[in-house]
Amino acid sequence: MSTQADIIIRNGKVLTMDDANPRAEALAIAGNKIVAVGSEVDVAALSGPATRVIDAGGGTVLPGFNEAHLHIFGGSVELSELSLFRVKGFDALKQKVLEYAAANPDLALIIGQSADYTIISDEERVTRHHLDAILPDRPLLIFAPDHHTAWANTIALTRAGILEGRDVGIGNEIVMAEDGLASGELRESNAIRPVSALGKTGGREMLGVGTGGEPENITAADRAADKEVLKQGMAYCASLGLTSIQNMDGNLYQLELMDEIEKEDGLPVRVRIPFHMKNFMPLSDLETKAAAWRARFQTDRLKCDFVKMFMDGVTEGETAVFVDDYSHKPGWKGEPLFSQEHFNEIATAADKLGLQIAVHAIGDGAVRMVLNGYEAAAEANGKRDSRNRVEHVEVIHPDDIPRFAELGAVASMQPVHPPGSAGLPTEPYLTYIGEERWPYAFAWRTLVDAGAAIVFATDWPVSPLDPMNCIEAAMTRDVWKEGMKDERLSLHETLAAYTRAGAYVEFMEDRKGVLKPGYLADVVVLGGDVEAVASADLAGVRPVKTICDGRITFEA
Ligand SMILES: [Zn+2]
Repeated sequence: MSTQADIIIRNGKVLTMDDANPRAEALAIAGNKIVAVGSEVDVAALSGPATRVIDAGGGTVLPGFNEAHLHIFGGSVELSELSLFRVKGFDALKQKVLEYAAANPDLALIIGQSADYTIISDEERVTRHHLDAILPDRPLLIFAPDHHTAWANTIALTRAGILEGRDVGIGNEIVMAEDGLASGELRESNAIRPVSALGKTGGREMLGVGTGGEPENITAADRAADKEVLKQGMAYCASLGLTSIQNMDGNLYQLELMDEIEKEDGLPVRVRIPFHMKNFMPLSDLETKAAAWRARFQTDRLKCDFVKMFMDGVTEGETAVFVDDYSHKPGWKGEPLFSQEHFNEIATAADKLGLQIAVHAIGDGAVRMVLNGYEAAAEANGKRDSRNRVEHVEVIHPDDIPRFAELGAVASMQPVHPPGSAGLPTEPYLTYIGEERWPYAFAWRTLVDAGAAIVFATDWPVSPLDPMNCIEAAMTRDVWKEGMKDERLSLHETLAAYTRAGAYVEFMEDRKGVLKPGYLADVVVLGGDVEAVASADLAGVRPVKTICDGRITFEA
């Protein structure tokens, strides 16, 4: 027998993420599978006249990155929007907005992204008056990095019909000022959507995150435009070394668009999309939608096999749910989006259908409620290998730390989110949670040491999607106060949380996430050796080749 390789990658520092064979020099791919991982000599034996040989130039070769928590449609749309990342102060904001507005004279709504809560100053919150002073005559909407809060100018609020306020449901708020009119601050998707709907995508970028379910009145042109947006977004994913993405909002519309792209061009990354269960939906949706979509979309390239939910909002918007009061606001702990009873009922029903559950829980109160629900499901249905996920786990109550291991739950965390990391401000976050909770905030090491499985991701477009940027943030994270515990993981653990653990949480560890013969050929070749550079230089190590399913999806 002689397998002839289609692709050989040689002269690399191959970090396989396979504990049985952790390092190699070369690997070979035939079709969509890895056929050999080993020494230069062993792998060269599989070379033939048609083999494409890639010289890694001594760079690190890894399993393709798995972004375990992103919002692909929203992120893809934002690639063309105004970025306010690291913009600080009124004047800088004004300059950015005016430049972008001048360059985009036909946009019905100017949308800015990644505006810090303190973009105007550390003391004052953005209001419509600030934005009116920048752009009075065209609708303007700027989003906080977490997308849970946005600020609009007066003309945008007026056109959206919400200048005088509106009841937008529990956990959502059009913040009102003393003059009886909207202040400009909009909290959570029901409050933001009336304004975002003025934009060119009709607010469809909030799909799934909002309460709309499926977009309405979609024309053939909308559909084609949305597909184009997704294709650009996924090409961007491939350019960053990603071979798998796990979307955290979902509906049938996005699944169908992805399926069409797969049939027309082939998806450049593996895509996983959930059914998004909201608090007003009937329990029967788990069967008629979640389970039905799972049956319809179940290939290794496009899957719908889990349920996404939100238990709370965000700390800066005071919508995260804590066990004890917010430090700056006695009497307020936040309000959960589901009662414990209701959540337990859904978790139990989803678990019974064999569906994994992933729930956004930022505050320790929300994390506890989610773990309670997983426990209730295990009690009702019997314990199974459920790998239920908690998204973010920004603060955990010390009593709940061991529960991840006990319940087999996975902590899905974002190294680009701790205040003070990746260019984020420390305030108001640290004041809101209070110093007594700092040791339990973004507690990666503590959770891993307690036996929790952990995946890393960016929550794009909440934070930049680049895995190397995120890995650098993980490795350079600083403590908030001298003497605090260092919560960083090792470089190897961090890389595993971006590769092998991502496959585990998708129940695909038997075929991807490590470089091993017989596994799917998902590989990233980096232009440098990650073990040889300083932590602060990791983001400078760029992907030079991305291979997904045996196909080259990116070449520098
Ligand atoms: Zn998210």
